[in-house]
Amino acid sequence: MLKIINSLSHHGLCLVLAQLSLGNRPDKLELTEEEWKERLTPAQFRITRKGGTERSFYNKYYWHKKEGVYHCIGCDTPLFSSETKYNSNSGWPAFWAPIVCPDDNQPNVKLIPVERPDRIFHEAKCITCDAHLGHVFDDGPPPTGLRYCINSVALNFTEAPENELEDLEQ
Ligand SMILES: [Zn+2]
Repeated sequence: MLKIINSLSHHGLCLVLAQLSLGNRPDKLELTEEEWKERLTPAQFRITRKGGTERSFYNKYYWHKKEGVYHCIGCDTPLFSSETKYNSNSGWPAFWAPIVCPDDNQPNVKLIPVERPDRIFHEAKCITCDAHLGHVFDDGPPPTGLRYCINSVALNFTEAPENELEDLEQ
C-alpha cells in the first residue's frame, strides 16, 4: 500500500491538478446519521453512508467526458481529476489514481482492505468524511495499474475553467 501511495505522490500531474483545485488538507468531517440524512438525498445516503452500490451504466458520470474535478458529495473534497478517468467497460466511472493533496502528499481517497475467499481488493473512502465511494482493483491501466471503480452518486463534478486547462497544457 505504501508503495502505491508513494507512486501516486510522485505523479506530477495529480499534484498539479490538486494545487489548482485545493491546496490545503481539509479538516475531518464527522456528522451523526441524522445529520447525514438531512445533508444527502436518500440515494446518496444509502451509497456513501451505508456502503451501497448504484446501478451500472445508468448512472450520472459513467459516460461523462468533460475536463474538471470530481468532488466528494458529502464534504466537497476534490477526489478525482478527469485526467485520470478512463473507460473500464464496467458500467461505473473509473479512475487510475485519486487526487493527492499537496499539503501532506497524501491521496484524498483512502483504501481499506476487503478480504474475500477468492481475492483481496480495497474499499475506497473519502479521507475527509469517510464516505464510501466504491472499490479499487488491481486491473487498471498504467501508470498505476489500479482501477478506482466509483459510484457516480458519491461524486459532484466541477468543470475546469478554460484558463486552468491552458495552464495544464503548457
Ligand atoms: Zn467526503
